[in-house]
Amino acid sequence: MSQAPAPTDVTLPIFAAGDPFHVMVKPIGPICNLDCSYCFYLEKEAMFGGKSNFRMTEEQLDRFVRQYIESQPANIPEISFAFQGGEPTLMGVKYFRKVMELQKRYARPNIPIVNALQTNGTLLDDQWGEFLHEHQFLVGISVDGPEEQHNRYRFDKQGKGSFAEVMRGIKILQKHKVEFNTLTVVQADNAQDPAAIYDFLKSIGSTFFQFIPIVEHDQLLDAKEHQRPLLPILEANQASVAARSVSPAQWGYFLNGIFDRWIESNDVGHIFVQLFDMMLGIAVGYPPSLCVHAKTCGNAVALEHTGDLYACDHYVSPEFHLGNIADKTLGEMLESDQQKKFGNDKFDTLPKFCLDCDYLKYCHGACPKDRISLTPDGEEGLAYLCEGYMAFYKHSLPTLRKMAKCVAMGVPASEYERYGVVRNPAAPGRPTAPSGKIKRNDPCPCGSGRKYKKCCGPR
Ligand code: SF4
Ligand code: SF4
Repeated sequence: MSQAPAPTDVTLPIFAAGDPFHVMVKPIGPICNLDCSYCFYLEKEAMFGGKSNFRMTEEQLDRFVRQYIESQPANIPEISFAFQGGEPTLMGVKYFRKVMELQKRYARPNIPIVNALQTNGTLLDDQWGEFLHEHQFLVGISVDGPEEQHNRYRFDKQGKGSFAEVMRGIKILQKHKVEFNTLTVVQADNAQDPAAIYDFLKSIGSTFFQFIPIVEHDQLLDAKEHQRPLLPILEANQASVAARSVSPAQWGYFLNGIFDRWIESNDVGHIFVQLFDMMLGIAVGYPPSLCVHAKTCGNAVALEHTGDLYACDHYVSPEFHLGNIADKTLGEMLESDQQKKFGNDKFDTLPKFCLDCDYLKYCHGACPKDRISLTPDGEEGLAYLCEGYMAFYKHSLPTLRKMAKCVAMGVPASEYERYGVVRNPAAPGRPTAPSGKIKRNDPCPCGSGRKYKKCCGPR
């Protein structure tokens, strides 16, 4: 690759967003070396027709890095870049070295920049390992469980399972001491054996688990227009989704199983499960850290290789196009009425059933893309996985609340059996819960005893 071009867009005035925002950038668009059968992003290739070479140009990359850094509000504690795809490692190490150069060029005084890369792991080699270690990337590896589970849906273009290559990639990361976590897609098969999934992820050295339920349906299409009836919860829900989707009951069973394995393995404070961390944080008094369970959306946008910005990774379609970074700044697009409405709709369109729900503050009706069910009284817009979430909240919250008491008292969450039921002697009544956003130096709400910036913060 040639030298980075001179800085661009000196004429585009920088427009800082009101709140910190997150861009999931796809430098190679939807292109991937694998062909996972449930991937919702591969089909986006068609959206760009034959016009694209699926590579973000240096000019657009320069614009993005500059705008992303400059459009964040003044008080942001750190700026976090997240690269995804498709498969971002297809861009090669050289491209990412250019990204590092640009970050250095546009860095703001005293605001650290951190980087995360979500990858299928199959293309990692020593060169990648050295680079990722040098720049302290946090790497997310997609792995669905032991070989049989993983290879069921995650295979290459020839139909060969990718498990062995993923394991090889993990070994590269370990060899070069690169911090990694795992992202596991939960579907109808692997949902049936949560303990085996848990033990497997632990056995490969992951200490931070993320689980994403797969619910395959025509998420952005009007169900009536496509003659696909919205279905009542707890009845015929499965008929509206592909068979490999996790069912509401399976989702609850899976989460409860993971939770129980976490507890019985005495892994609290050692192994971190993103959803549990978030719930513990909410129980302590922090806002939801995952967009799926936040009150509103809108601060997590997706940037395509063309420089086109979309409302969210799950809404990359013409209707949710916010503009191109060559014409408008990221800050401007984040603050647009269109994006504000997209964000607020998440709460404003909740059915009454959710508004009255005891678990509302932990759930917020989950991701709008999966609100395809009817409430028991017939209202549209209920989360397909509601039954599963409810089962999980009911099962886990009594324990998580005990952990929250510990955390609020400055005791590790793992001490929940000893201290979780005891009131704070220094402050009778409810422990004081912190308010507002977690600061970098606050104790991590997961209860590890470490500072937030050294624990879950970078994730
Ligand atoms: S639409 Fe779903 S994935 Fe996108 S920001 Fe909202 S909750 Fe998150
Ligand atoms: S658990 Fe169900 S009813 Fe409660 S907020 Fe979540 S989706 Fe709505």
